Amino acid sequence: MPRYDVVLLDADMTLFDFHRSERAALEQVLERYGLPRSEQVLRDYTKINAALWDAFARGEIDQDFLTAERFAALMRAHGGQADPRQVNRSYELALGEQAHLLPGAEDFCRALSRLGLTLAIATNGLPAAQRGRYVRTGLDRYIPHLFISLELGAQKPQRAFFDRICATLGVTDRSRAVMVGDGLATDILGGNLAGMDTVWYNPAHLPLTGPARPTYTAGSYGEILALLS
Ligand SMILES: [Mg+2]
Repeated sequence: MPRYDVVLLDADMTLFDFHRSERAALEQVLERYGLPRSEQVLRDYTKINAALWDAFARGEIDQDFLTAERFAALMRAHGGQADPRQVNRSYELALGEQAHLLPGAEDFCRALSRLGLTLAIATNGLPAAQRGRYVRTGLDRYIPHLFISLELGAQKPQRAFFDRICATLGVTDRSRAVMVGDGLATDILGGNLAGMDTVWYNPAHLPLTGPARPTYTAGSYGEILALLS
């Protein structure tokens, strides 16, 4: 008998190749809004965006501020006159069209769907981008539920994010649910706070840092499948 009935899966860098999609979408919007398409601009965006997501995870800013400010800050540094909210909307739409899965992710999801477990994606990403990629990559054929932080009104690692998902899925015994993801501060810490087991997907074999404590660590999709079968 499988260890779990319900499997929550992170999206970015667990199933989706976010780095590839992000770069392609950024290049499109930089061009459209007249910003230089240089490595320096891309690096600066990555830095600005990461700092804002960190502040968001600490509860210091909301998602609306985050999405506008990342482009406002980029334009302050590199020129550009556009409305940062408009730039961000274009970016999110472009990101939703960039449907790149990590190698092996589709086979992994197909194999998971054959185990007869309840499967859901649980992501902190932005609705237009995440929903677009969920459908375009065809993952909706294998994973019937998609939970997005902005739509739930709570985000990983907050306990409320998991409480709302459990309520929707009718999970009453959390020892039968598991969160799988690459993010220690989001997926694993969130699972810890919500009282669920976790699988840290760590194909790069990064060292364990911070307060999160994974129940299991897996270096490949095959290892995750073995744990869940
Ligand atoms: Mg992730």
